[in-house]
Amino acid sequence: MKFGADIDRMTAYCTYCPKMCRFSCPTADAESRETATPWGMMRLLELAKDNSVALDHEVADAFYHCTGCRRCQTYCEHDNDVPRALWKARRWSVDSGFLPEAYLDLQQRFDESGTPYGKPERRIDDTVFDEQAKIAFWPDCSTVANHPDLVESVGRLLNRLLGSKVQLVRSEEFNHPTCCGFPLTGAGIKTPESCRDDLWPDLDGIDTVYTDCPGLAAWHHDASSWPIAERNTDPEFGHIFELIADKCRTVPPEKTLQLDDRLLHESCYVTRQIDGSDAVGTILAAIQQNPPQQMAYTGDDSQCCGGRCHYQVLEPEASEHAAEKVLDALDRKPAADTMVTTSSMCRDAMADAGGDEQVTNLLQLICEAYGV
Ligand code: SF4
Ligand code: SF4
Repeated sequence: MKFGADIDRMTAYCTYCPKMCRFSCPTADAESRETATPWGMMRLLELAKDNSVALDHEVADAFYHCTGCRRCQTYCEHDNDVPRALWKARRWSVDSGFLPEAYLDLQQRFDESGTPYGKPERRIDDTVFDEQAKIAFWPDCSTVANHPDLVESVGRLLNRLLGSKVQLVRSEEFNHPTCCGFPLTGAGIKTPESCRDDLWPDLDGIDTVYTDCPGLAAWHHDASSWPIAERNTDPEFGHIFELIADKCRTVPPEKTLQLDDRLLHESCYVTRQIDGSDAVGTILAAIQQNPPQQMAYTGDDSQCCGGRCHYQVLEPEASEHAAEKVLDALDRKPAADTMVTTSSMCRDAMADAGGDEQVTNLLQLICEAYGV
């Protein structure tokens, strides 16, 4: 398989690198083995690409120990985009018949419910939305599965900010909001374009889609690891934080919140895949009475909780360990008793690691400030 000059250059750089980024990688840290480091995965890809090592189940499995967090890129002198190379290696693995067994269930849940979580337990309240509206909200599938009340709150928030109701993106086939397919691309089963063609609900008549899913937003961010090939007929896509940051100046919240007993965790996808830090900063300035405390690693250095890209399907213990490590930051900041994170999936990963009472999603705080 041809990987292209950019990926060939990346794997060559990694092969001869003294592993400068190793400390930054959540999977390398959680698994404590060289194969799960950025260097180990990229070196193996270099060998497999030139047939020095035969692609088989074991080699293919090694390409899956990356959450796509891009933290290694922050510390890489060559600016290597490791997730871009590894997502392509996963496609190659699946095309060659080496999908890791752990992902078979993921595919089945998609087939049965259109989401990686199975059919949602409760229906979203339709009255909050307008099915004729030209602006739509496509909720993150982890928000739909675990926080359906937040989907409704966001519907009311968008009504407040825009002055009219928005449409909820939902599938006619399944009759609930379905997943954009990002986890299937992370598993190498599909491409972003084939997700759009095969899985997405009909978006005809919609001009703009806002989402709280950083994966779907990353596909529509040119500088992300996996930009989708956009078509003229597609609606505009944006992360909901971009819209809120834009509108909160003219439509201020009902109240401001005391956030100085919170610790801010910046989700790696919001920060490094969609460059969302400025939007988060603008929103925090609008909703806070006093700012949240900063973690030791912020912005481009922020830690990955290991919850991304269904890494927990492959390595549940390591994934939990990575989330615990982020939660540990609370022990080092006695004046902070809870954490606020900028993504639904990160909140749930840390909740699964024992932090259910300790972590809130920023979107929940925004809705609280707006009284919705
Ligand atoms: S990503 Fe960069 S820093 Fe990390 S191993 Fe490769 S070349 Fe080295
Ligand atoms: S993108 Fe994140 S998980 Fe993937 S290799 Fe780099 S640091 Fe590790």
